[in-house]
Amino acid sequence: MSNSKPIKSLTSVSHETPLTLLETYPGALFFLDEAEKIVYANTSTQTMLGVSPETLVGNSFWCNVPQLVSPSLYLAVQKTKQTRAPTEVEYVSPVTQTWLHVQLSPTVRGILVQFHKMEEPLPSREAFFPDQYHVTDILESMYVGIGFLTTEGILLDINDVPLADAQIQREEVIGKPFAETPWWSSSPTSQHQLRAAIARASRGETVRFETLVHPREGMELYLEAVIIPHKDRHHSVEYLVYVGTDITERKRAEAAIHALIDALPQLVWTGRPDGYVDSYNQRWCDYTGIATEQAQGNGWLQCIHPDDQQHILALWQDAVQNGRPYEAEQRMRQSTTGAYRWFLVRATPFKDTQGTIFKWFGTCTDIHDKKRAEQQLKESRESLRVLAETVPQFVWMVRPDGAYEYRNQRLYDYIGFELEQTPSDWQRSCQFIHPEDRDRTRELWQHALETGAMFEHEERLINAQTGVYRWFLTRALPVRDEAGQIVKWVGTSTDIEEQKRTEAALRASQERVNALMNSSIIGIFVSEDSQIVDVNDTFLRMTGYTRKDLREGGINWMQITPPEYLARTVEAYQELYTRQSMTPYEKEYICKDGSHLPVLVGAILLEHHPNQSIGFVLDNSARKELEQRKDAFISMASHELKTPLTALKMQTQLARRRLERQSLQEAATALEMVEKPVKQLERLVEELLDVSKIQAGKLEYRQEMVDLGVLLREVVETMQQTHSSHTIVVRGTLHSSLMGDRDRLGQVFTNLLSNAIKYSPGAETIEMDLRASEDAVTIRVQDHGLGIPREQCDKIFDRFYRVVGPRQRAIPGLGMGLYIVAEIVKSHGGIITVESDVGKGSTFTVTFPKREDA
Ligand code: ADP
Repeated sequence: MSNSKPIKSLTSVSHETPLTLLETYPGALFFLDEAEKIVYANTSTQTMLGVSPETLVGNSFWCNVPQLVSPSLYLAVQKTKQTRAPTEVEYVSPVTQTWLHVQLSPTVRGILVQFHKMEEPLPSREAFFPDQYHVTDILESMYVGIGFLTTEGILLDINDVPLADAQIQREEVIGKPFAETPWWSSSPTSQHQLRAAIARASRGETVRFETLVHPREGMELYLEAVIIPHKDRHHSVEYLVYVGTDITERKRAEAAIHALIDALPQLVWTGRPDGYVDSYNQRWCDYTGIATEQAQGNGWLQCIHPDDQQHILALWQDAVQNGRPYEAEQRMRQSTTGAYRWFLVRATPFKDTQGTIFKWFGTCTDIHDKKRAEQQLKESRESLRVLAETVPQFVWMVRPDGAYEYRNQRLYDYIGFELEQTPSDWQRSCQFIHPEDRDRTRELWQHALETGAMFEHEERLINAQTGVYRWFLTRALPVRDEAGQIVKWVGTSTDIEEQKRTEAALRASQERVNALMNSSIIGIFVSEDSQIVDVNDTFLRMTGYTRKDLREGGINWMQITPPEYLARTVEAYQELYTRQSMTPYEKEYICKDGSHLPVLVGAILLEHHPNQSIGFVLDNSARKELEQRKDAFISMASHELKTPLTALKMQTQLARRRLERQSLQEAATALEMVEKPVKQLERLVEELLDVSKIQAGKLEYRQEMVDLGVLLREVVETMQQTHSSHTIVVRGTLHSSLMGDRDRLGQVFTNLLSNAIKYSPGAETIEMDLRASEDAVTIRVQDHGLGIPREQCDKIFDRFYRVVGPRQRAIPGLGMGLYIVAEIVKSHGGIITVESDVGKGSTFTVTFPKREDA
């Protein structure tokens, strides 16, 4: 390496001598200023480069002598400028392939550069790129374009790959601004990209970009270009390295993938290794309403629910950083409705053979409906849980192996401890069952487990706090999975203690009812309208009918009631239907053997539609027989009394008359005193006789025309003569006749007047009112006496009935008069009624219909 003498000043070029000196230099020689512009070039450059020195002066060295340009030289120039020390470099010109030896000497305002052609390299030469050619060889085989650029972007060297693509020679491009070479000049976009990248790289940044270039007519090439700044020890950028990788195939594959992605039913996107999301399928854009350009990078965040954005971004960045698959559920806004729907977003990193991620592929799957269904399921599970906690029963779930899955608080409170989820639980819980119920419970459980049938059992469970057993109805049903396998049993235990008690009470009362039903005293029947639908055994025993007769509808009111009782029976049933109950009444049943059974019947109505009633029947035959015997006795006694009484009366009258004839007046008067009670006694006996005749239906009536007016006048006169205590006032007259028994009719009014006098001890008058209308004759007997309580007015016409009361009790009587009166009036076609006010008096009214022949 030879040292060159420094040239003091570039102005010295104007000096003849040095210039001549320089001109004599055999190789090409250049003065470059600080900006590496050619200030001077000697004439040898003409020989070496075929360019006149004058054309070079004032121009950039790197752009005008491509035959000399090389990265090594470029670096040597930079070094000389920096170190201000002479240096030298040897290299093969990329253009001419000739070996050059270059000496560089710093000058005051620039550098002196001298070139020598040489045959071979010197054994020890300084090389700036010791591995340059070796590396290039390797890169060549990788089909990668490599270039070296000045920080201004002048191409210092380039390998064969891009040259072959563009079908141009190296010398055509070396020393030219890289951006103006054919690769870039045909595409303004890529040219612009490159210029920007060079500018950034020269500031120290590695810049990467993808672009589409047209190296030659008809050729289209997708390049991934990287501009790498090369820095020296002081971190200042020395030169730039360009690496261009043909990614056409990849781009085409990507285009195919995009077409495929667009066809997918999901929302799909791809991302760069650094997490920059670069593409979306149409579906994604349609759903979100965001165009790919807006969504690129982190633009997609705007479709994420505001509440989730931060969290989702952090998740994504974490996945990118760690190169791990990404998976998240996120809410994404649907542009058409504005509503957020749930999506399952998954992204997988794609790696090359070295394991370097070159792409992310992401999909968004709509899981909104599934999520909602899940949510609903969760809600319904929650509702079930709440329900299980609120119902008054115990609720529990147990697995087929006996392990409890769930039991509600109520159950816990009752048994007093938490059950563990172990298969032994069920055994343990058995201890709360009453010892007498345990075996049956186990047996039924076993059966349920084997058959899958519902478990149902009433069992007693002990209350842990009180130590008292209560009855529970336990029920459980199996829950099966899709394959039909039982996965659990869901059960409830309902407290039926009260129900049990009620049932027991009901049973007892039922037993009582049954006892009543089956009592041998009372016959019971249930009837619907006129049909008897059920009876007890007593009823059957009383009447002689059988259950078969009952089933065959053989027991019917119409059939078992004798004709003479039909009217009364219908009346009784009308009362039942209107008043819901029937006053017990006497009647007879026709028994199966045709005999008549006297009975007392009462009933109450159960339902209206149909008229269902329940009734009781008492055998009245014993009472009836007693009554008959009593009647027979009265009849016999009255007959037996009548004969001696008549004899006594006759004897007394005869004796009195005899004494009167003998003028023994005193004795006659005494005898007359005896005659009066005898007469009373006689009347009593006659009444008794009348009553027994009525009972026997043997009271006979004469049939004669009776002038009522005359009859009543006579009765009143007689009464007035014998009863001077009251004045009988008669109002009105009667000119009516009646066919009947004169004496019996006279007995009616005699009795009414005598009662009126008898029961009005403090009064002075009795009024009699006679009235005749067109079709009836009415006779009223009114007194101002004691009166009759309203509720007893109906009863005074009954046999032997007397009004209950202290004042009435003091008045003698046997309660036969009105019974006979009513019977006589009835037999004459008339009716008798009474109106009375207690303490004010009573009015008896007798009405006879006027007969047409009367
Ligand atoms: P007795 O022989 O008791 O008078 P009756 O059959 O004539 O029997 O009358 C029945 C009952 O009716 C009497 O006991 C009496 O209590 C009541 N009674 C009848 N007539 C009257 C009347 N005019 N005023 C008040 N009570 C009467």
